[in-house]
Amino acid sequence: MKDNIVPFNWPHMTGKELYYIAEAHFNGRLAGDGPFTKRCHEWLEKRTGCNKALLTHSCTAALEMAAILADIQPGDEVIMPSYTFVSTANAFVLRGGVPVFVDIREDTLNLDERLIEAAITPRTKAIVPVHYAGVACEMDAIMDIAQRYNLLVIEDAAQGIMSTYKGRSLGSIGHMGCYSFHETKNIISGEGGALLINDPALAERAEIIREKGTDRSQFFRGEVDKYTWQDIGSSFLPGELIAAFLWAQLEEAEDITQNRLASWRRYHDLLEDMELNNILRRPIVPDNCRHNAHMYYLLLASGIDRQAVLDKMKSNDIWPVFHYVPLHSSPGGQRYGRVHGSLKVTDDQSERLIRLPLWVGLTEQQQEKIVNILKVAVQQQG
Ligand SMILES: *Cc1c(COP(=O)(O)O)cnc(C)c1O
Repeated sequence: MKDNIVPFNWPHMTGKELYYIAEAHFNGRLAGDGPFTKRCHEWLEKRTGCNKALLTHSCTAALEMAAILADIQPGDEVIMPSYTFVSTANAFVLRGGVPVFVDIREDTLNLDERLIEAAITPRTKAIVPVHYAGVACEMDAIMDIAQRYNLLVIEDAAQGIMSTYKGRSLGSIGHMGCYSFHETKNIISGEGGALLINDPALAERAEIIREKGTDRSQFFRGEVDKYTWQDIGSSFLPGELIAAFLWAQLEEAEDITQNRLASWRRYHDLLEDMELNNILRRPIVPDNCRHNAHMYYLLLASGIDRQAVLDKMKSNDIWPVFHYVPLHSSPGGQRYGRVHGSLKVTDDQSERLIRLPLWVGLTEQQQEKIVNILKVAVQQQG
């Protein structure tokens, strides 16, 4: 890679990953649920306050487990934003569920809790809030609706590790929560994830589903004298090498988060005058949310040609990106999902959003360069 290129993401290694992988190798225990997996589980349980944490091989896998645990049957409806990653929807579609897309809030780009109730039908089974950019959805309101209508809440907290809502960890508030350790997230293991179980009634079945539908976890704990096929399931657990890598990351989770937050705040300061000049809008973090600086995004004022801005930045060796193509306007979303009400905020904001490079080790000089090039790019597209 050329020296002057600023990539969008640069996976951060703490330096201890290979050491722990060597330890796992030395232990001679490579299948899942070995000593490193246990350490990761304990860390997640302690840190988030969830009832039970289970490593998975991705957040996608955690969402798929959640859909099985929620007992989604063909035709059951699941309320979620359209403005999210495909796995949020796909996990439920795999079970015959129907994603019902509801619009997002203008401030946080999170599922608009004020629109959920009107989207509920007799077929509704679950609500899936997605904590975009690691900033929490309005969980009190969402949990209240869920309780009144007897629905499950599955938090897609793929981006939300180390973030809190009113002091509670994201992923630990709904009945279940799902984390991602994909290399583009804050805490990584290449591919990886975790399912957080908060409702103790779901914990035993979760272990069985994750272990190919068997009670092998209970067998290993000596709770049963042999293990057999009990339920549907699959192989959702990662091997020990992945858990060893992840352990090195979890140990440094606080430092990684602080480092990202420093870069996030620097962007926020550097972009203030562009917001005052109505060129863009900066991210909004509600007072009751502590975020993890997963992402720095900005919303260009309408009328500015986003593609021209992105092209100009790329020609200057800065690699910003945009996302998502809202699910309701994708072929899969049209085939498998349904829209409730207007999605005008989703449609509007998804076309104006740019994500700036953000990773541990991004320098002040790089950030200044990025913002200067952004300014020029916006001016030039006129
Ligand atoms: C990254 C992401 C996922 C998928 O995570 P994987 O670990 O890659 O499966 C799901 N939902 C959201 C909101 C994400 O950002």
